[in-house]
Amino acid sequence: MRYFIWCGNRARFAGKEMQTMKVLVINCGSSSLKYQLIDSETEKALAVGLCERIGIDGRLNHTPEGGEKVVIEKDMPNHEVAIRMVLDALVDNQYGVIGDLKEIDAVGHRLVHGGEKFTESVVIDEEVIAGVEECNPLAPLHNPANLIGVRACQTIMPGVPNVGVFDTAFHQTMSPVAYMYGLPYEYYEKYKVRRYGFHGTSHSFVSKRAVEMLHLNPDDSKVIVCHLGNGSSISAVKNGKVVDTSMGMTPMEGLVMGTRCGDIDPTIVEYLAHNLNKSLEEIMVILNKESGVYGLSGGLSSDFRDLDEASNKGNEKAKLAVEVFSYRVAKVIGSYMAAMNGVDAIIFTAGIGENNIVVRKQILEYFGYMGIALDEEANQMRGEEKIISTPSSKVTVAVIPTNEELAIARETVALL
Ligand code: ADP
Repeated sequence: MRYFIWCGNRARFAGKEMQTMKVLVINCGSSSLKYQLIDSETEKALAVGLCERIGIDGRLNHTPEGGEKVVIEKDMPNHEVAIRMVLDALVDNQYGVIGDLKEIDAVGHRLVHGGEKFTESVVIDEEVIAGVEECNPLAPLHNPANLIGVRACQTIMPGVPNVGVFDTAFHQTMSPVAYMYGLPYEYYEKYKVRRYGFHGTSHSFVSKRAVEMLHLNPDDSKVIVCHLGNGSSISAVKNGKVVDTSMGMTPMEGLVMGTRCGDIDPTIVEYLAHNLNKSLEEIMVILNKESGVYGLSGGLSSDFRDLDEASNKGNEKAKLAVEVFSYRVAKVIGSYMAAMNGVDAIIFTAGIGENNIVVRKQILEYFGYMGIALDEEANQMRGEEKIISTPSSKVTVAVIPTNEELAIARETVALL
């Protein structure tokens, strides 16, 4: 039972006005589109879904809150058609979650690359679109696809505000000491070659939650966030601001990932191109899609569940792949302790960080010397928000599940 009276989208509650909104969160890729409809009052997803194979044939996976997943196979020649199908699903008689499309108050878009132009989320207008287009060369696969989603929403839902939340924005507080590469300075000036960092929405959400959960002083806190998923990155967040992050100009840099190689000696690119008689583009595909733990495990899998299972059965390459992954995470954590001159909390998040007990243990074993102690029992869990270090550990270690969609919805509500 609700005790407030609806006045448009404002609810009166106990005499006070509270803004409640339903926000459609969209993460638009070149051939896929993920969505969630989030109620800002409960912060729950009323429906989640995914459009796949846009421009190929088309499949919509739609799951209403508390309901069964529905799969609809129907032609999706472009993103506009895909979004129309999503909206139809949201108001469907059987598996819909709202009565009318007018109930959608705003759309929050994940935008991948905001370059140096966007340091925070923005309400999208023509000027913003032009600004994002300027950043297209920095993310040629992602930004144009993101903008197609924005355009489609503008066409189908005129008058509904669109908000852009950038993967790069949270990292814009880095100083040149952290973001400059050891390259001729003019490449930064002319081509914007520098570290930008990604997964910013997650690093922001999780680091803020860490400060709250662990009762740290927001103005005197040093948090290292390990976002370990298919793509992985680590950030050093001091007093709420990023001082360094492991991904670079693109999401290729840093850790060994599912299929991406992370940091390697750049000479390897030339060496492999020469030995394999392949073009630069072909080598980049190998580094992006055939490397990481997938490549290290001899092409077994990029999924840590498969690697753990294979390691347990004695597969040496799978075991090595996981160990290399953990070692590289530990090295970055160590370097960020130096970057911040200390650390109060180390946080694990995303698919692997939240769920992989072995990886968390392997990583933390590198820090025994400095008094970080894992509570083995507390670590035996998946997907929970929990402290996993012992009370006497010199640094608190915790798992905090990330929720990028909710973070986008919150930003959207805050801006509007
Ligand atoms: P992304 O969002 O970058 O595609 P995720 O954050 O979903 O990736 O992380 C994918 C990784 O998380 C996979 O390697 C997978 O093994 C691991 N993972 C996800 N869920 C679980 C789970 N419930 N138990 C163990 N591992 C999991």
